[in-house]
Amino acid sequence: MKRILSLHFLLVILFFTITVYGNVENESNREKYKVIIVGGGISGVAAATRLLSNNVSDIAILEASNRLGGRVYTAPFGDFLIEYGAQWVHGQGDNPVYKIAEPYNFLYVQNWDTPSFLKHSDSKINISVVSSWLFEESYGLFNNDNDMMLCNCSTEHYFNNKFNELIKNKNVDEYTAEAVADFTKKCKSADDAIRNLNEEGSWGSAQYLTRNGSLTVAWKTGYHSFINILTGKYEGKQLPVEQKTKFNKVVQTINWTGNEVEITCEDGSRYFADHVIVTVSLGVLKFSSKTMFNPPLPDNKLTAIESLGFGLLNKMYIQFETRWWPLDYEYLLCFLWTNEDIQKFKNESKYGGWTTEIPYIHFVENQPRLLEGWLTGDAAQLMETLSDDELTGAIIELFNWFLGDQYSISKPINVTRSAWASNPFVHGSYSFRSIKSDRLGYSAANVLAEPLLFNQTNPVILFAGEASSERSFSTVQGALETGWREATRILNFQL
Ligand SMILES: Cc1cc2nc3c(=O)[nH]c(=O)nc-3n(C[C@H](O)[C@H](O)[C@H](O)COP(=O)(O)OP(=O)(O)OC[C@H]3O[C@@H](n4cnc5c(N)ncnc54)[C@H](O)[C@@H]3O)c2cc1C
Repeated sequence: MKRILSLHFLLVILFFTITVYGNVENESNREKYKVIIVGGGISGVAAATRLLSNNVSDIAILEASNRLGGRVYTAPFGDFLIEYGAQWVHGQGDNPVYKIAEPYNFLYVQNWDTPSFLKHSDSKINISVVSSWLFEESYGLFNNDNDMMLCNCSTEHYFNNKFNELIKNKNVDEYTAEAVADFTKKCKSADDAIRNLNEEGSWGSAQYLTRNGSLTVAWKTGYHSFINILTGKYEGKQLPVEQKTKFNKVVQTINWTGNEVEITCEDGSRYFADHVIVTVSLGVLKFSSKTMFNPPLPDNKLTAIESLGFGLLNKMYIQFETRWWPLDYEYLLCFLWTNEDIQKFKNESKYGGWTTEIPYIHFVENQPRLLEGWLTGDAAQLMETLSDDELTGAIIELFNWFLGDQYSISKPINVTRSAWASNPFVHGSYSFRSIKSDRLGYSAANVLAEPLLFNQTNPVILFAGEASSERSFSTVQGALETGWREATRILNFQL
């Protein structure tokens, strides 16, 4: 009996020792940082550079994918460099991206102002009315911020009323009016990555700040160069942003019960920090905000995440052996349709007619055998699922409809497309202000960007990313400014 008791005693001691030692071991291995940034897109990189340049070097970026940049995604395609995500610097003088990048001579202004309008040879659309004034004035209706705010309705409702006023008593036939209204709506949908104008709030849309100068400033070296500029690569004093990044770390939970935050990743790894800047897209927040945070996010933040819009814009790049399109075509090929044309095309189409949703396809400057097209909504989602053969077949069918009677359209030799909806680390393209967020008065700054505080003062969880920008949502400059904003919030708290 005595022997059994002492054996039992030994086992208890052994168990106790293993448990305590195990914990001591874990404690010494635990990775703790002053600041952890979740996501290495532009906002994450901007936050990191601001912290590092202010001597806060005890930081880590946890990035789900295997690269920095997020929705800035330059990639090789044949002999070319293409942008699956952000393409242009929208604005010059007062755009911080332009201001930072301009001295490096990587930027050039792309001509976007002279479209070529195309119609089917049998179509009744009057192209000269479209190109001489109607499209310009029609699209210009979206520049009237005061009227859009006053309407405080869906962008569809606003546009329909204004467009009817625009063509009233003017010599515009019904087919031309119908085609221009349809094309203008598709262009606005592509700009704002919305399915259609019914889901966008006119008030919130008018909050977007259009910066001065050209809105289509492109990168000779790809948008990815901006990350190199931000991290000081060309200055010979590069900040160690890449070294501070842990790639392939998909953050699953963020536990902020105390003043120390515990982050757990999908692979089981755990990290601890005093402050966490969350920069994941609104799409990711929509998908996982209810399970990611413990304690859960406050109700108003969850409602903001649910009600602000996150849309889908996809691009396609089509490479030809030789250039078949004429030199005298302007930069942008714009496809005009009447309802009758659309119906006819769909009836004849071998591919379901989804290409009627493509507003335009444009040439890629300095890459003369490459065309680039844009697409939003359900058709953009469908495009992600097509085989290359189905995609090229559908594009040739579209070109044949508009130009087949004048040109011999060759078969593309290579095609690629973005797939932002099925990217689990983005879940869409960029944010927009919806009818619902307008009604609730939930903008980015008043709810989404608000940090979660410990003891009512300590910003423990902070939110950056384009969607949290009050007036530059949906852009790189918005992402940049919000990353700086949240890093500065931490710096101010620590001072
Ligand atoms: C097709 C397209 C065209 C565009 N065109 C332009 C343009 O011409 N001009 C312009 O200014 N803007 C454009 N934009 C918008 C611009 O790209 C974005 O606003 C900006 O890049 C967003 O940066 P961000 O840091 O806020 O988010 P993101 O770039 O989405 O960065 C967030 C990062 O978080 C990571 N992440 C996600 N989930 C997790 C997780 N669970 N754990 C860890 N990491 C995670 C992601 O991998 C990503 O790297 C375009 C976007 C798209 C998609």
